Amino acid sequence: MPGTKISQRMRMLALARDCATLGARIRTIHHLTGLRPRELLHLLFSGQALPPRGRAPDSREWYHGANLLHRIEASVIVANFHRLRQLGCPAAEALVEAYRYYQSMHRQPLRISFDRAFDLAAHTEGLWIARSASFQLASCPRCGSEFLDTLGGMDTASRSCPFCQLLDRHGRDPRLTASYVVPPPISADIIVHLAPIRGAEGETPVTPAPLPTAKP
Ligand SMILES: [Zn+2]
Repeated sequence: MPGTKISQRMRMLALARDCATLGARIRTIHHLTGLRPRELLHLLFSGQALPPRGRAPDSREWYHGANLLHRIEASVIVANFHRLRQLGCPAAEALVEAYRYYQSMHRQPLRISFDRAFDLAAHTEGLWIARSASFQLASCPRCGSEFLDTLGGMDTASRSCPFCQLLDRHGRDPRLTASYVVPPPISADIIVHLAPIRGAEGETPVTPAPLPTAKP
């Protein structure tokens, strides 16, 4: 019964559950699913578990002061989100899968919360809470990586690329040496996993360029 109201609602409920599992706040789940906040609170957070509280992230200011590791991890999430969108994945599911992949590749505590990832994706594509894009994915002419940059900023100059900065500083900065985990490109497993969601036929999966490996 794909396309019926009940299957659409079941899909949104499953999405809401997945978002809550990833630590999303009610506001974020509401924007991603369209389900009412009161219903989400009742369905997802009855009992002792409480949703995250406090001010929701606003990445437009945050990104200017974010350190190198934050900018790298934000870039990895948004780049994978963008690739999944190109494969035909709906935006909400693409965000969940991109965040799950990020979560699986990095040690706790994670630097980028699901709410932050939502805000970054929203302001890169002009979705959900954002009327227009404030960020873009720029391509580095030096290393070929895609990285998050402010729209209309210095953009494609390699000096803006956090991956090039990592390569330059890795080994000299103990924090980077200890923290950095090479984020591999999106795996075939995720593409296979997303095949039922895509619902599109005849598309050829994109093989993304690998991200650079850190110098020893
Ligand atoms: Zn670069």
